[in-house]
Amino acid sequence: MAAQTPDLDTPDASLTADDSFTATSSAGLTYPWGDFAPGQGKVHRIADGISWARIPMPGSLGHINSWLLDDEDALGTGFAVVDAGMLLRECSDAWKALFAGDLADVRVTRVFGTHLHPDHIGLAGWLCKRFDTDLWMTRGEWLTARMLISDVRDDVPPAYIAMQRAAGWGEDVIAEMSSRGWGRFGKMVFEMPQSFRRIEAGDVLQMGQHRWEVVIGSGHSPEHACLLNAQSGVLVSGDQVLPRISSNVSVHLSEPEADPLGEWLDSIDRLLGLPDDLLICPAHGEPFKGLHTRLCALRDEHHRRLDDVHAKLKETPLRAVDCFPLLFNRPIGGHNRDLATGEATAHLNRLMADGRARRDLADGVYWYRAA
Ligand SMILES: [Zn+2]
Repeated sequence: MAAQTPDLDTPDASLTADDSFTATSSAGLTYPWGDFAPGQGKVHRIADGISWARIPMPGSLGHINSWLLDDEDALGTGFAVVDAGMLLRECSDAWKALFAGDLADVRVTRVFGTHLHPDHIGLAGWLCKRFDTDLWMTRGEWLTARMLISDVRDDVPPAYIAMQRAAGWGEDVIAEMSSRGWGRFGKMVFEMPQSFRRIEAGDVLQMGQHRWEVVIGSGHSPEHACLLNAQSGVLVSGDQVLPRISSNVSVHLSEPEADPLGEWLDSIDRLLGLPDDLLICPAHGEPFKGLHTRLCALRDEHHRRLDDVHAKLKETPLRAVDCFPLLFNRPIGGHNRDLATGEATAHLNRLMADGRARRDLADGVYWYRAA
């Protein structure tokens, strides 16, 4: 199935999938374009005011979607880029192919980072530099990104080691963690501009003929921006709402007593106030409809897991690492160990905040019990 040649100047106001696509549905969601995705150098118009490019990435995610919003500034028309990919040759080559392909002679007017993770902002600074334009983010995401990039040191901080030990990791794993060194975040992100343009909840940005409202979520990251175009019926959702995978919700070293899962569940409740028939443009996976179905599924899944952990705590004390079989259906080790430990701790912190669990420290290890 060949991708249509996008017409960048004539927006297609219709959200209906055109005839060359077969809409599919699964788990109550509808994918108007089925499993289609724009190929190398290609941009696909998906609704009035927004086009879609896909940036390939290694690893299990395999890609990130970059959403291109019609924009206009003093120099003329162009695109605002939402999320840019990681600082990897594979990602920058994909952009170069776009600039030699469907985006030839198209100007980038500004760059948005929905949130601080390197697959989203890794090439944001590179695009800003290339087009001499600004980076737009929330203050929470910007500051956290700058903090992590600046935290350069040779050795893994003792507080991180203590946190991993408290979660229940043994000395063999601790030794391996120590040997990896510190400061990987900065290596995945191109130098960011020294200044940024702040966006915050409720801001309405006029871009070209369109108004985009900033909708904030939290839990996956501190102050995650989504962009809502009520007129076109589109939500650019970043990682706040993903169709097929559950976004990681983790406790991090910078705030060990945080309750990100509480923030995540609150965000889901807020997002349920948005219209159900929006076209959701996620950072990973295909654009879909069925926002409320997806949000309820994510919410119910977390509550089920919280209940499972709580039930087990009534039987026996557990460490964070003991919760993995209750939370994940895949083996934990190596690359996913940090995410799993952070997410297990997030569930335990939620249970404690809820008064359903308490913990004791014994020999540097946290043991959780039902309260
Ligand atoms: Zn993310």
